[in-house]
Amino acid sequence: MQMPEFFSADELLGNPARFAKFAPPIRLAVLGDPVAHSRSPGFQNAALSACGISTTYARIHVTADRFEKLIRSLPAAGFIGANITIPHKASALEAVDTADAYSRLSGSVNTLVIDQGKLHGFNTDGPGLSRAVQDEFGVHWKDLRVAILGAGGGAGRAIAAQCAIDRCQRLILVNRTPEKCVSLAKELETFLPGGRLRVATFDTSDLEQELEHTDLIINATSLGMKPGDPRIIPASWVTSHQLVFDTVYSGRKSYLLEDAESAGARGANGLSMLLHQGALSFEHWFQRPAPLETMREALFSTL
Ligand code: NAP
Repeated sequence: MQMPEFFSADELLGNPARFAKFAPPIRLAVLGDPVAHSRSPGFQNAALSACGISTTYARIHVTADRFEKLIRSLPAAGFIGANITIPHKASALEAVDTADAYSRLSGSVNTLVIDQGKLHGFNTDGPGLSRAVQDEFGVHWKDLRVAILGAGGGAGRAIAAQCAIDRCQRLILVNRTPEKCVSLAKELETFLPGGRLRVATFDTSDLEQELEHTDLIINATSLGMKPGDPRIIPASWVTSHQLVFDTVYSGRKSYLLEDAESAGARGANGLSMLLHQGALSFEHWFQRPAPLETMREALFSTL
């Protein structure tokens, strides 16, 4: 049977047995809306094959109104897990049977593990980015002053939670809509007491100065995904001493990364985050180390 670019939710709900008939059987998938762009099947299938695991990883398109029904149908269809992407990560947290402490703090789930018919939720976005920062820049963010642009979004919140758990030196949560960060900041203050945590908007008068005293700027907004998206911060706010990580990976260099390059700052795009969050999902599913170099080669060979 030929593997389509993606399956619809109806195909899984209407004919779950079909998924087990693939060779190897489809027992993992990324679920999202849209989902056709996802690069996860390429590197997850390379990892499965390298480890001799007889499983195929697919894409399933599912809209918000059918999401919970779909994930509830996964155990009977023989699935062992899934990744959750835009826009379902917060709904996944509500729908799972159990969620670990970090997913609850993050407010979202991006990895499902299915065991004895139950759905267990985890989030690998924050730990994945932590590993990606180490990989790209050779430093751990516990030693850095970090600013997260878009900290009120799904990914931004997960990254903020991980930075706080790891007790980075200082954390600025920047969001267009600041209310989205206020309750998060209260929850994270216990990890970063004594004024080490601050909430700001892009209009905050001293944000430029704050960023001067920042070592790592992370873009977790969705700006940069579409051609024509505006700059997130003015080019002059990026200076040579900063590290700049843009979680977006669109194939084009974002304004933020162009500005980092012009300023002589080191920059990285979201591909290494994608790689590491996927490797951590693999480890949740199989309780063994992921074949990282195989996954990296498969991901980068498709660019
Ligand atoms: P989301 O929940 O929809 O959050 C979007 C964020 O972008 C919010 O903070 C939103 O601010 C902000 N935003 C949107 N338009 C803006 C604008 N014009 N000006 C300023 N801020 C704006 O999305 P998400 O799931 O967190 O995803 C965000 C990004 O993370 C996406 O680009 C995605 O590709 C990336 N991501 C990458 C990886 C990876 O593996 N590399 C993994 C996960 C996510 P408001 O709260 O004010 O609306």
